[in-house]
Amino acid sequence: MGFRFVAIPGHRVVAHPQALPSDERLEPELPPMQEAVERALASAEFRDVKAKDRLRALLQGDRPPNLGSPGSGFGPCAVFAQPPQDLPALLRLADELDSMARREAGERALVWKCGECNARYAVPVALVRPVSIRCERCGHGVELNPNRSLGEESLIDPFLGAVNGARHELASFFREAMARGWPVLVATEDTSA
Ligand SMILES: [Zn+2]
Repeated sequence: MGFRFVAIPGHRVVAHPQALPSDERLEPELPPMQEAVERALASAEFRDVKAKDRLRALLQGDRPPNLGSPGSGFGPCAVFAQPPQDLPALLRLADELDSMARREAGERALVWKCGECNARYAVPVALVRPVSIRCERCGHGVELNPNRSLGEESLIDPFLGAVNGARHELASFFREAMARGWPVLVATEDTSA
């Protein structure tokens, strides 16, 4: 399910089938990978429910969303968060997203290369023990000696990097919307068209 967040001033929210105005709005700049955005929200909570479950309930529940669409390719919007009553919960969600991103970005690894075939070995710093292993590729011995590693690097792969980028982006979008007192709306990709 692809979805899109947008915030606009409350007095400019219109009902479906009109479209939301585009001259005054906030939108997070999310990576084009929908899976990364879903993963970004995966274990975050909003008002004691998983943010993803809340999205699903709002967009695919018994009462269909009835506010204007944010743009072509997207269906009508539902209210994800309404200030001021949702302000504390949304700010908590923003904090949670930021700290999840920081936690995951913090995992680092020590790296070695096989002296014979250059195969690369990375071990999370917390799990490093000085041992000898046999190279998977060529069978040559490789010493995983912390003092003789090639250095530290982040374990983050490009996908996780995008997930964490989406977390920071959503967090600042939520904060900015609440600071302006604008409702946060969400729509899902229009699959009926
Ligand atoms: Zn090797």
